[in-house]
Amino acid sequence: MSDHITVAKHNHFCDFCGGLIPKGTKCRIIHDDFMPKLVYFEHLHCPPPKTAVVSPSTPKQPIKPKFTPAFCAC
Ligand SMILES: [Zn+2]
Repeated sequence: MSDHITVAKHNHFCDFCGGLIPKGTKCRIIHDDFMPKLVYFEHLHCPPPKTAVVSPSTPKQPIKPKFTPAFCAC
């Protein structure tokens, strides 16, 4: 394995974290010594994983049924 740092000529996906490496940003290219056509792209510093954030501005509301239930007049 050999690697070097270069500027991405196209958009790539990081083979380590799966994130997008935009065109024009520096990234690491890794070549497989035994399979020269096999090339991996990686961020220099992978971004932290995104976590779900609940917005405090959207209050939770009960789920309303889409139809009104019929009442039995027995
Ligand atoms: Zn990455």
